[in-house]
Amino acid sequence: MKIQFLGAAQTVTGSKYLLSANGSRVLVDCGLYQGVKTLRLRNRQPLPLAATAIDAVVLSHAHIDHSGFLPALYRQGFRGPVYCSPATLDLCKVLLPDAGFLQEEDARYANRKHFSRHSPAEPLFTEDDAQRVLRQFRVLETGLAHPLVNGLGLRLVPAGHILGACSLVLDDGHRCAVFSGDLGRSHDPLMRAPEHPGHADYLVVESTYGDRVHEVIDPEQSFAKLICETIGRGGIVLIPAFAVGRAQLVLHILQKLKARGAIPDVPVYLNSPMAIRATDIFCAHQTEHRLSREDCEAIDEGTIRVRTVEESQALTRSSYPSVIISASGMASGGRVLHHLKSLVGDHRNSVVFVGFQAPGTRGAAMVAGAAQIKIHGGWFPVRAQVHGLDALSAHADAGELLDWMRGFPEPPRHTFVTHGEPAAADALRLRIKDELGWRVSVPEYRDEVALD
Ligand SMILES: [Zn+2]
Repeated sequence: MKIQFLGAAQTVTGSKYLLSANGSRVLVDCGLYQGVKTLRLRNRQPLPLAATAIDAVVLSHAHIDHSGFLPALYRQGFRGPVYCSPATLDLCKVLLPDAGFLQEEDARYANRKHFSRHSPAEPLFTEDDAQRVLRQFRVLETGLAHPLVNGLGLRLVPAGHILGACSLVLDDGHRCAVFSGDLGRSHDPLMRAPEHPGHADYLVVESTYGDRVHEVIDPEQSFAKLICETIGRGGIVLIPAFAVGRAQLVLHILQKLKARGAIPDVPVYLNSPMAIRATDIFCAHQTEHRLSREDCEAIDEGTIRVRTVEESQALTRSSYPSVIISASGMASGGRVLHHLKSLVGDHRNSVVFVGFQAPGTRGAAMVAGAAQIKIHGGWFPVRAQVHGLDALSAHADAGELLDWMRGFPEPPRHTFVTHGEPAAADALRLRIKDELGWRVSVPEYRDEVALD
């Protein structure tokens, strides 16, 4: 067995690991790089092998930084199967075509403004590529070992995090490699705790919050407090949220707070067509999360869905006190930008970030206290209150990652720490070495290691 790190090496995006075993090549996750430009440019770099030489892709979950390069791989000639859990397929059906649409939009915009070095600018992939690669998906039941190719087997183990998210266990009959995927929290209000894969000869573990422990606060209470304060001074609460995962958690918490009278009965808007569809998919997979049918009905009844562009524009013009949830979660694009433009300059309003903010994104700049932000080419002063509620994150913190690793009956022969910024990955590496006494390293982009 051999592994090559083609993404998420000392960064949080672009998850992509090439596993070679028994003469076959399997790509574990196929994510898009996001955030700073030097990373985004890697989406355009050729892979070290032809896409046609990849036998199969396996996906840990649907988030674009794990699945979003698939349509590009299709464009480069990949025609093999893509294995994942049933909910991951349902979410990819929403996320991938939308990602293709955005790529085409970006290329059109670059051509209109003539700022592309390539003329005309070519999209990395299109909505049509996304629709076509979706036909190659094969869903697998979780918990069981499935044969993939040439004696290589795959087992999906639920990992919390978001609907359908799994850790991946790949076994070539000789060695078994475990990929944690993104690990959820042990006491998430929305998702069940991650299950444990049991045994690993080699482990690839995420480290998004490898240098941090989430505050022990009651996120509902902090949420209620800042909503009451904002509404009390006549302001609007804007929550940029990932369409899949945190948007559903925020909607659930808001309904609970309203039901017990902890916040005023102001309108709650969900302004993201993708988050609207993701919420429907979430509620359709009733057995895979912690919310009851009644909880889902409460979300349904208590949320005003903003679907059309006209409705969205009307909401942007409104100054009536309300709560607005809109994507994207790091304010890097989407409808949330229009709300930011109209709300961020007024001290009465609040902007609440509820997930990890990758470096280079507007969200990261705002949480760090930026005095002004650039949107659509113009600068806007930040006078609204900006909050970062890490306690609502869908990622395990350092302590929870270590607890999950303590579940292995014996130390893996080697552990690779990925999916974290350099400081976070290295902090987790040190704790694994010192507290667990395991052999561990932080691989670099394109490192290749034999798994004997
Ligand atoms: Zn994720």
